[in-house]
Amino acid sequence: MTWDADHLRILLVEDDEDDFVITRDLLRAQDRVRFTVDWAASYEDALEAVASCLHDVYIVDYRLGAHTGLDLVRTVLPGCERAPVILLTGQGDYAVDLEATSLGVTDFLLKDRLDSAVLERSIRYAFSHHSALRRLRESEERFALAVHGASDGIWDWDLRRDRVYFAPRWKDMLGLPATDVPEGPEAWLGRVHSEDLSRLQHAIAAHLDGRSPHFESEHRMRHDDGSFRWMFSRGVAIRDEQGTATRMAGSMSDITARKSAEERLVHDALHDALTGLPNRGLFRDRLALALRRAERQPDYRCAVLFLDIDRFKVVNDGFTHIIGDQLLVALGRRLVDHLRPGDTVARLGGDEFTLLLDGVSTAEDAMQTAQRIQDVLREPFVLDGRSLTVSASIGISLSGSASQPAEMMRDADIAMYDAKRQGAGRISVFTTGMHSRAMTRLKLETELRAAIDEGTLRVFYQPIVHLATAKLRGLEALVRWPIDDPGFGPDEFIPVAEDVGLIGDLGRLVMRRACAQLSDWRSRGLVADEITMSVNVSCRQLADHQLVGQICLALDECGLPADALRIEVTESTLMHNPERMRAVLDELGEIGVRLHVDDFGTGYSSLTFLHRFPGETLKIDRSFISPMLEDHGSAEIVRMIMTLAHSLGLSVVAEGVETPEQAAALVELGCQFGQGFLWARPMPAEAVEICLARGHTLGPTAVALPIGTVNQPER
Ligand code: C2E
Ligand code: CA
Ligand code: CA
Repeated sequence: MTWDADHLRILLVEDDEDDFVITRDLLRAQDRVRFTVDWAASYEDALEAVASCLHDVYIVDYRLGAHTGLDLVRTVLPGCERAPVILLTGQGDYAVDLEATSLGVTDFLLKDRLDSAVLERSIRYAFSHHSALRRLRESEERFALAVHGASDGIWDWDLRRDRVYFAPRWKDMLGLPATDVPEGPEAWLGRVHSEDLSRLQHAIAAHLDGRSPHFESEHRMRHDDGSFRWMFSRGVAIRDEQGTATRMAGSMSDITARKSAEERLVHDALHDALTGLPNRGLFRDRLALALRRAERQPDYRCAVLFLDIDRFKVVNDGFTHIIGDQLLVALGRRLVDHLRPGDTVARLGGDEFTLLLDGVSTAEDAMQTAQRIQDVLREPFVLDGRSLTVSASIGISLSGSASQPAEMMRDADIAMYDAKRQGAGRISVFTTGMHSRAMTRLKLETELRAAIDEGTLRVFYQPIVHLATAKLRGLEALVRWPIDDPGFGPDEFIPVAEDVGLIGDLGRLVMRRACAQLSDWRSRGLVADEITMSVNVSCRQLADHQLVGQICLALDECGLPADALRIEVTESTLMHNPERMRAVLDELGEIGVRLHVDDFGTGYSSLTFLHRFPGETLKIDRSFISPMLEDHGSAEIVRMIMTLAHSLGLSVVAEGVETPEQAAALVELGCQFGQGFLWARPMPAEAVEICLARGHTLGPTAVALPIGTVNQPER
């Protein structure tokens, strides 16, 4: 029976020929191993033969002339890695034996005890032992290579001895030197972030106790440079027969980049990109926490401040959006700087910010904070070399009234709106009355929008007459809401339409209807060519750069000449932004549309401004006409307006004339035109047509005309 090695090539190093022959013959005398024997008869021959690397086993005599077999091992067979070495010796020498072991020699045989069987067994053991060693070494090398190549740091924890092997890569990831790292778990656990340590220890324990199939944990570790890195550690335990973990090995990888990307995503989802402040979502979350606390602790309260910059659009339009953005950033920073650490400042979008005041218990406290914010904002912002001053409207709501974050934010918003209505830089605390007003407004807004969209808004017309003759001179278009509430006039809903941005659509609708109506009456011969149509234009409409274009379009659509149209603009609107007004009026003048200065006497016109518009018309406000017979002061004002108008070449319409006595007094003062219930109320087009069919003279002086027909109520 032979054993499993193919065919061995043996180098026999022996300087004594007789001994060589003896050994060779012993080998030949057994049939268990097939072999070829090469003979090196001297130390020098042996050096050469070893260098050829052809042999599977070296059998080396200890005595080799001036050298020893061990010299040979030392010089050309270090560690006996290439092939196993068996040393032959004449007499046993323990010191030589020891040295041979330390050099890796596999066996040490005494020549006089040698026989075939001993030799064969020694070769067999040497060979298989060496093969096993080689395989182990290769496997270790492979492992080392893999560890070296991997970006993960390998660790191997001997749980019985409580020692951990950390691969160089593991140390490298933490900026540690390859040496000098203690081989205990402390080297690892001692660097873990205190907030993550117990979680990590739990994960380790869970796996060692068999509660989890493998160990896995994400935790931060302190790098040698002092910073913390996110690491992902995973491993598996090896267990003995009782199932007790004896060893756990695994790897650690640096996941800092992934973690910070995740953190950035989370941050971005909860923060405003421009200012970096919390966004609406995060604010709502924090408010929800505060409200939950308020539920638990009866003496805890918090407040929400809703802050909106006044006339931010002016900043954006007047400067640039870049400056606008810079302002928002600087303002956000100022808010943060002036609040307490527990408070939250968020940007909801646009120029809207919300503040959560933690632990504020009374409205007065919240007011004080709001006032402090107002003061802080009043300091000019220097942006891009320019100095900019802003104010903000602030609404306040307190916990207690609302239990949901959305409600509380809505209430603060409503209060802010209330503050805004009082003017710039105001503060308002939410009351339930505000809520119902806001609801009414919301309803109004929705219905008004629907009425505009569905075209159900109506336009009434009120005649303007020659005072002396009551002959028709023109008509004023007045919008009507199609609901059954006579008290609900344009004074109520025009401001809403302006606020919510519906005034443009509303104004266009009235303009087109009025122009088309006059054009229709003209073409049917119901009115003479000098009869004009007045249309009211509000402040917001005048600010719209498309206004003049829209007027031209309305005129073109129905083929009405521009001089048939009068634009009624209140005196206060004219004076609100005289520069802009002048530009618009110049444009209108160019196309031939003329102006009525409405509600005259209630604003503060400058004479130079009025001087620019000879030939235009002033409409004296009803508040001077109604009391003029009883109140000397009012009469004087009317007289002065008349004088002023005459000297500036302007004509005058008296508004709200209700009695023949008023009409007579006005004629006396030289007033040419009037408008009022005395002649006719605003009425639908059909009612106007009835009047027109009967002649262009209206009211009491038009005796032929039954008063009931013309002076009919509006509905
Ligand atoms: P306004 O331009 O001063 O219009 C005259 C207002 O006085 C009208 O009220 C009219 O019905 C009322 N009035 C006329 N004669 C008399 C009178 O003898 N006695 C009394 N007590 N009142 C008289 P109305 O129609 O309620 O309109 C109110 C305001 O709403 C208008 O004041 C005008 O500023 C605005 N407005 C009306 N229609 C429009 C429109 O289409 N667009 C715009 N932007 N504003 C409009
Ligand atoms: Ca008017
Ligand atoms: Ca008026």
